[in-house]
Amino acid sequence: MHVMVLGAGITGVTTAWFLREAGFKVSVIDRQGEAGHETSFANGGQISVSHPEPWANPSAPLAALSWLGRAGAPLRFVPHANLDQWQWAFQFLRECLPARTHRNTVAIAALALHSLQELHRVREATGIAEAYDARARGILHLFFDASQLDRIKARINHLARLGIETRFCTSDQCIDLEPALASLRLRLVGGIYAPKDESGDALRFSQTLARVLASHDVHFHYQTFIEQFSRADGQITGIEVINDKGGTQILSADHYVVCLGSYSRELVRPLGENLPIYPLKGYSVTAAITDPLRAPSVSLTDEARRIVCSRLGERLRIAGTAELDDYNRDIDPARINAMLAWAEDRLPGAIDHKRITPWTGLRPATPGGVPLIGRSPYPNLWYNTGHGTLGWTLSCGSASSLATLMRGEKPAIAFPFLH
Ligand SMILES: Cc1cc2nc3c(=O)[nH]c(=O)nc-3n(C[C@H](O)[C@H](O)[C@H](O)COP(=O)(O)OP(=O)(O)OC[C@H]3O[C@@H](n4cnc5c(N)ncnc54)[C@H](O)[C@@H]3O)c2cc1C
Repeated sequence: MHVMVLGAGITGVTTAWFLREAGFKVSVIDRQGEAGHETSFANGGQISVSHPEPWANPSAPLAALSWLGRAGAPLRFVPHANLDQWQWAFQFLRECLPARTHRNTVAIAALALHSLQELHRVREATGIAEAYDARARGILHLFFDASQLDRIKARINHLARLGIETRFCTSDQCIDLEPALASLRLRLVGGIYAPKDESGDALRFSQTLARVLASHDVHFHYQTFIEQFSRADGQITGIEVINDKGGTQILSADHYVVCLGSYSRELVRPLGENLPIYPLKGYSVTAAITDPLRAPSVSLTDEARRIVCSRLGERLRIAGTAELDDYNRDIDPARINAMLAWAEDRLPGAIDHKRITPWTGLRPATPGGVPLIGRSPYPNLWYNTGHGTLGWTLSCGSASSLATLMRGEKPAIAFPFLH
């Protein structure tokens, strides 16, 4: 049985891995020259099982209002005459209702826990940990506002009920865990430490895994632009592509899996499908580390500023912000400067501000943060897309669950798979 995976981001490459493991013949199509060259290129690097609560939650509408028009706010809404944008924004608001947030959090937590196990399995099978700068030192969520202490403790209990191990740390305990935070001793009110969380470079992971797969009979068609699906009798019969020589061609398989990130919606729309995915633009800056003792080796999340920070070998990656601005990927220098100012304030002297690489990417976000995994109304078309803010964290679990579904079995986790 031949399966064609559409898209070679972190989701597509892991999908190819688990489908091959399940015994399928697999090929992968992508318009870029290599795996991981779009949203999986320079993300925050966190395997963040300890953050299952989606951005759509009861406190989001008020927070969004307070950020409106504020320069440097974590969220920016740039209105467009695009129905998808407005529809998505209203759906997002609906997902902020407490019962929906709870349901979404439970689903994301189950998938994230499974995903971590599956990531470990991939690592053991391939030995690629070093190649992608994997670091299993946990994530420390930092808090600077004493009024949040009660909420922190409630959150730890909530995570425990979801099966996610975390613990409260005082300011001193945070610094014992991560000495690079020493300058914050008097400002930090505490932290939540998730010892089992990890970090690593999603681009290097995607590329290394793609190379392993290519050496095991998985064919990667790079620089191949998918134009549209062909269909007949309610089935997908092929994809029309412009290939790497510039020619038009139809590629066919028995089954197709959509892993096209933020572009999934556009490609399946002519099939009568309206996937609730909208591009949520984020920024990152990757900087050379100047003083290894001042750069954290535990991955960090600054909860109030919505900024994450991961050490990737000799580099430090700082990422955050969300902009609803359609497919615009322009880099706003003010955003980059705000991240560099954050680094100087929180981790003074850690990075070389002259050796930096700024980047933006489009998170393929569903309103409630729950990805779309499973079969479409077309029997041989499948989805593994819409991973939004957590695509690296959820990649291996989403891919292995999809492979289980495609084998005709039921994955062992409580998650609202499509069927
Ligand atoms: C700033 C930022 C920080 C983030 N931090 C984290 C983090 O710390 N932890 C975490 O878990 N997640 C994080 N994420 C989210 C994560 O990066 C994404 O969810 C993930 O990369 C999505 O992967 P994907 O494979 O679905 O999409 P992509 O990586 O975008 O892959 C889609 C692929 O489809 C291909 N494609 C699209 N259209 C076509 C076409 N017509 N023809 C051929 N090919 C096509 C593209 O070339 C691309 O390679 C972050 C995202 C951003 C933007």
